[in-house]
Amino acid sequence: MIKTDKLKIYNSLTRKKEIFEPLQSSKVGIYICGPTVYDYIHIGNMRSFVAFDVIIRYLRYLGYDVKHVQNVTDVDDKMIKRAQKEGTTIKEIAKKYEKIYFDDMKAYNNQLPDINPRATEHIADIISLIKKIVENGYGYVKGGNVYFSIAKFKDYGKLSGVSINQLKAGARVEQDNYDKEHPRDFALWKASKPGEPSWDSPWGNGRPGWHIECSAMSMKYLGETFDIHGGGKDLKFPHHENEIAQSESATGKQFVRYWIHTEFLNIKGEKMAKSLGNFFTAHELLKQNGGKYDAKDLRYFLVSTHYRKPIDFKEEAIEDAKNSRKKLENMVNSVKHALEYEKNTLPVDRELESKIKNLKEKFEAAMNDDFNTPEALRVLFEFSSLLNKYIESPKSGASLKNALTTFLNLSQNVLGLQFESEKTEIPKDVKKLVEEREKARKEKDWNKADKIRDEIRKKGYIIEDKNDKSIVKPV
Ligand code: AMP
Ligand code: ZN
Repeated sequence: MIKTDKLKIYNSLTRKKEIFEPLQSSKVGIYICGPTVYDYIHIGNMRSFVAFDVIIRYLRYLGYDVKHVQNVTDVDDKMIKRAQKEGTTIKEIAKKYEKIYFDDMKAYNNQLPDINPRATEHIADIISLIKKIVENGYGYVKGGNVYFSIAKFKDYGKLSGVSINQLKAGARVEQDNYDKEHPRDFALWKASKPGEPSWDSPWGNGRPGWHIECSAMSMKYLGETFDIHGGGKDLKFPHHENEIAQSESATGKQFVRYWIHTEFLNIKGEKMAKSLGNFFTAHELLKQNGGKYDAKDLRYFLVSTHYRKPIDFKEEAIEDAKNSRKKLENMVNSVKHALEYEKNTLPVDRELESKIKNLKEKFEAAMNDDFNTPEALRVLFEFSSLLNKYIESPKSGASLKNALTTFLNLSQNVLGLQFESEKTEIPKDVKKLVEEREKARKEKDWNKADKIRDEIRKKGYIIEDKNDKSIVKPV
């Protein structure tokens, strides 16, 4: 059962928010463009991956059976250059950086894709797709390269809004040695130079262009038409525009129904980018790798901006995120603690349960509105104030427990936030002393109660008396 039919997604293809209706009622196929594994990824790249992780988590929360495919690009010019620089093969480079990439993804609490295809393992699929494109009259061969003819694909530009004429006039395009029919025609297959990785093909030895791998691998695992395709907004043109052209000219069908693009993470007003040198790797920022930050805080920081709004990467903003996350963490620990001492209470507190239901609906309404994470976080803070108040004089342990479960489901399972548990396991001898002290208090033997309090203190615990209950906490 899917929880809602009200999820709205901003579709970059139609440029509006649309009610999400997957091809099959309870299944979603989603393809996210992955990194080129020639180096560490930066925190800007991570911003995009965290945003898609939240989207996928929410689709799963709603009850969809999500198939998440994300490629790694393990052959392209950057890979070749890096391998030459390090005096090794692209295979070794890919192996090294793919592992680092997945370790980083896990560190930021991203769920890993269900299928993680590598371009070099799909050369046969790529070649057969290029053959189809050429057979259908959209590709042409020049000097061992195969190009896509953008003029032949009448829908070219429908995603990004570029027009072919504009492109011709103003195009600043990569120069290569072969004549292309249009300067923006792009390579489906590239002839390899001596020493470069190459595979046998009907057009001679060579390697795939970048765009074709995503068309071939996404359609292989998700079908010729699938639900969602995503990436950072810089991929809209030319990468995704080219993917549409390739796929639709091969199949004659709509390639993707919903396109999602994430905004940039900027630093000092500029896009964080490898080429500008203004980046921090997602890896180096983490404490466990010698950096300053806890991944939990950085994730919170990334999630606290809507995915279609830019993020300014700056110290104070990360500090704010850290404090906010800590507030929620403190609340979670206080509630856990209070639950240990709830015994003689109401089986259900209807008032609390109804407030929680209301907050859950508000959280879902925020997420249904094109995954509005800042609004969802605001609801979590409302949730948190409610529970902080409630534990001052709780009426029902069972309802408080339900409330905590709901809070954790929304914050951890949907947003992927994490909270550390304080050690709350109280040793047996301390528990015994607490019971003795409660007995003394009931008998109004205040002297004895105070003495026991001191003893408990010596064992490293303090006691707070709330109404008729005593709460023990580590000092
Ligand atoms: P790349 O390896 O350059 O293809 O980047 C991997 C992903 O990160 C793509 O979806 C890019 O669009 C995205 N990306 C690159 N730079 C940024 C940035 N500064 N902020 C957000 N996303 C980015
Ligand atoms: Zn791609």
